[in-house]
Amino acid sequence: MEPAEALADCLRGVAETLRHHRDLGFKEIALSRVPFSGPALPGSPLSDAPLSDAAAALRLQEQARAGCQLCKLCKSRSTVVFGVGNPRARLMVVGEGPGEEEDRQGVPFVGRAGQLLTRMLAARGVGFDRDRDCYIANVVKCRPERNRNPEPDEVAACNPFLMAQIDTLRPAVILALGNFAAQTLLGTKEGITKLRGRVYPYREIALVPTFHPAFLLRNPGPEYRRMAYDDLKMARREYDRVTGRGGRASGG
Ligand code: URA
Repeated sequence: MEPAEALADCLRGVAETLRHHRDLGFKEIALSRVPFSGPALPGSPLSDAPLSDAAAALRLQEQARAGCQLCKLCKSRSTVVFGVGNPRARLMVVGEGPGEEEDRQGVPFVGRAGQLLTRMLAARGVGFDRDRDCYIANVVKCRPERNRNPEPDEVAACNPFLMAQIDTLRPAVILALGNFAAQTLLGTKEGITKLRGRVYPYREIALVPTFHPAFLLRNPGPEYRRMAYDDLKMARREYDRVTGRGGRASGG
């Protein structure tokens, strides 16, 4: 690609992102994570909540999502299920989309699959506390009716929100649960069975794909659970390596 073409491509991407944020109601965008230290800008919705504060940034993003009508999932959902967890977590868990219970409570992974996820995260040799160590979100933030798979236009409409969450959290490790999360983040059509079992570099983050807990509930074969367990232990090793927190895995 010619340099001018590459630059034009890049600028188109920036323009698209800015338009999207404008449509969400943002009036300012922080260009870096350097804490904002200047005087508060009058009328700025961000002036007293600098984006370097991950909790505040996530709150703003969640507020901007409330009542979202960017795709047809707004017709089937009761609640936008934005995300939950510690805004300072270094482990981000990404699922597919809210199910019935999540749609009711407005919190990701609180149904049966969520309960299994919580146990998997806390397993011996993995040792993540869901509330303390993780931030959990989904590829799509609204429940598809009858839990059908999200469609490409729905994934595309929600993608900037997931990207904003990732940019805000800057996790050390992303655990991608199931086909949708792994394929969306890695930009591949390869299935999870092929993708799992290794670590992928993803925007300076270690991405670990594994089976979705809902799949494990449907396929209780011990070999799948063992593979998922191996993946989670791998995620733990990556986490310890990147964060320099060796020897903290416990749980079980
Ligand atoms: N399955 C998901 O992918 N996400 C949830 O939040 C719940 C179930």
